[in-house]
Amino acid sequence: MAEILVLAEHDGDVVKKVTLELLTAARAHGEPSVVWTGDGAEAAQGRLAEFGAATVYVADSSDYADYVVAPKAELLAHLIEQKSPAAVLVAATSEGREVAGRLAVKTGSGVLTDVTGLGDGLTAEQSIFGGAITVQSRVRTGTPIIAVRPNAITPEPAAAPGAAALESVDFAVSDAAKIAKVTGKVVAERGERPELTEASIVVSGGRGLGSGEHFALIEELADSLGAAVGASRAATDAGWYPHQFQVGQTGKTVSPQLYMAIGISGAIQHRAGMQTAKTIMVVNKDPEAPIFELADFGVVGDLFKVVPQLIEEIGKRAES
Ligand SMILES: Cc1cc2nc3c(=O)[nH]c(=O)nc-3n(C[C@H](O)[C@H](O)[C@H](O)COP(=O)(O)OP(=O)(O)OC[C@H]3O[C@@H](n4cnc5c(N)ncnc54)[C@H](O)[C@@H]3O)c2cc1C
Repeated sequence: MAEILVLAEHDGDVVKKVTLELLTAARAHGEPSVVWTGDGAEAAQGRLAEFGAATVYVADSSDYADYVVAPKAELLAHLIEQKSPAAVLVAATSEGREVAGRLAVKTGSGVLTDVTGLGDGLTAEQSIFGGAITVQSRVRTGTPIIAVRPNAITPEPAAAPGAAALESVDFAVSDAAKIAKVTGKVVAERGERPELTEASIVVSGGRGLGSGEHFALIEELADSLGAAVGASRAATDAGWYPHQFQVGQTGKTVSPQLYMAIGISGAIQHRAGMQTAKTIMVVNKDPEAPIFELADFGVVGDLFKVVPQLIEEIGKRAES
């Protein structure tokens, strides 16, 4: 079976969920092998095996964390040359997209980004023009490099685990790839909540909240569901919530199982960042708000009445 390389995203020894999603997608089209940069591969081996990884190529060097993205693109180009895989899958995160672009240029290959599904013959599905159009595309030149949107694919363990055999990669990163050095890292404080682009549930608040203090209500609802918090640009521009949580065309793109839009009108620029969510639930006092066009479940009502009742009901169910 054709080998498909999956670039792992991880926090040391913890495999990020998106990597499991990529493995699930890769399994349907070939034999997945993981490319692991830095340390932690041994600790992650069991998890990678569970999701069907046949081989784990380990490039255990600090270069991959010390220098922005160029070393990872170089490593993948080296592995394409050595292994001739059928495709390379990366996460369509800001880092993954950049790796994909660099790799495509290095190898003269076609690249598809923001992919939301993979069909026969590695035909990729993409949601474009703010989600208004769904297109199918296939790479025709070189090794297909495919950046898959986090949460677009449901991660499922393999019917039979893979061997996840660790294989050390003998590769030295070039000086050219070490031009941009990481001089420091600040981990954003986000408490116990999941990362916005990776969360299965996202609860977002908009201008309807009326003030930054009222975002406490959105946080309470999010915490009752183990969800991430998002915000519309109207809310972040008003300084009610930090910009890093903005969902939309000029913010983050999310594709959770459940997206809750609270006091958000549904402007095209907001929809661009959330309309591939599997289920969309809306609370808005205006029945004409465009967000209802997208809603699977909508409540016309005052969020200050609806959301506390929702939190209470979720609490009761959690107890029972
Ligand atoms: C180039 C460009 C890029 C942009 N990028 C983004 C982006 O990335 N993300 C983004 O979100 N926007 C973006 N915008 C802005 C976008 O056009 C909208 O202005 C913005 O999304 C509106 O945010 P909102 O829905 O919170 O506010 P509004 O449009 O003001 O909607 C507020 C909603 O709250 C409802 N409401 C009010 N009070 C209550 C209540 N008590 N209970 C229930 N409902 C209530 C109202 O009925 C209304 O529907 C961009 C705009 C431009 C021009």
